[in-house]
Amino acid sequence: MNSQPVIYLDNAATTPVAPEVLAAMIPCLEGACGNPSSHYSVGYEAKERLDAARAAVARVLNAEPGEIFFTGCGTEADNWAIKGTAYKLAKKGKKHLITSAFEHHAVLHSMMALEREGFEVTYLPVTKDGFVRPEDVAAAIRPDTALVSVMMANNEIGTLQPIREIAAVCAQKGVWCHTDAVQAVGAVPVDVKELGVQMLSLSAHKFNGPKGVGALYIHKGILPYSFMDGGGQETRRRAGTENVAGIVGLATALELAAAHLDERAAHERQLRDYVIGRVLKNIPGTTLNGDAGRRLPGNANISFAGLEGETILLDLDMHGICASTGSACNSDSLDPSHVLLSIGLPHEAAHGTMRFSFGPQNTMAEAERLCEVLEEIIPRRRAMSPVWHGPIK
Ligand code: PLP
Repeated sequence: MNSQPVIYLDNAATTPVAPEVLAAMIPCLEGACGNPSSHYSVGYEAKERLDAARAAVARVLNAEPGEIFFTGCGTEADNWAIKGTAYKLAKKGKKHLITSAFEHHAVLHSMMALEREGFEVTYLPVTKDGFVRPEDVAAAIRPDTALVSVMMANNEIGTLQPIREIAAVCAQKGVWCHTDAVQAVGAVPVDVKELGVQMLSLSAHKFNGPKGVGALYIHKGILPYSFMDGGGQETRRRAGTENVAGIVGLATALELAAAHLDERAAHERQLRDYVIGRVLKNIPGTTLNGDAGRRLPGNANISFAGLEGETILLDLDMHGICASTGSACNSDSLDPSHVLLSIGLPHEAAHGTMRFSFGPQNTMAEAERLCEVLEEIIPRRRAMSPVWHGPIK
């Protein structure tokens, strides 16, 4: 076993639960164990916690409490928005959906499932800087389009999408707009009214909340079909006894992130830019993927020519550093990342790519240590590589 302290630089995969979040959750697990649907005081107490959490989430997102629906994760929120809309609007003859080529699999695989059922899906291309263009959305919308779903921030390269402009195009054409904001919420300002979207997904474990709880914002003017059938929870729109502790954790984490948004973003940006600047300067054959400015404050996605990301990942792990070769959901696959291919990276470059994602708990000393380790392992591995013919230092 490795006894050195772990340097956790994979905050896009998941984040540690903040102590304040844990403190808010414990009473929901220890004492007030009631079911929010039960009609006695312990149940009412749980319901009050749930209502307070819903109101808090609504406040942060500039929504109304009745527009916030808690789910089991971000994946469920995406599935609900997409399939609930598709099934609802298919009744009106609208069986076409639009998304982008570099969405998370929660969106892409939902779309593919619908294709197998006879729906038609347009997968929009992405620019080499990592953006979906609103004009491409406008051109793809047809009279039978039911939904446009474009993510707010990409989970691998961190680029921030022009959602306001995309939602405006949709509004003009009378098409519902959903955004998967799982990577954006808690990292950048998210205001559903300002964005103009009809639906927005989020997930607690990406902003120092617990795993296994998410939410879907649904504008009060629309009614996609329910996704979970069963009891009457969540105003009959999402069945299943509510995860009260998880939901309280989600709301607490979101309030905390919102209260410290600017200072956290400034801190993460400092670490990110330090690492990008030093790696690109000191290690030849490295490139940053995704636009340098319009990206999540904590995301650095760097290709190391001539090397496999898995080799770098294992070497970093030997030094106690956690990072990622792409999205965690894809980490069991050796296929190159669909995100990196979508922005035009050749297969070899996509294979040699690492994502470093910083959170509020990371320090400059950790960023410096990452650079030192990369400056040691990359030349060593390249010296052994049969495919690297460039400079070693
Ligand atoms: N959407 C994006 C952009 C993500 O990054 C993730 C998680 O990595 C998800 C959806 C899925 O969220 P969850 O892990 O809560 O199911």
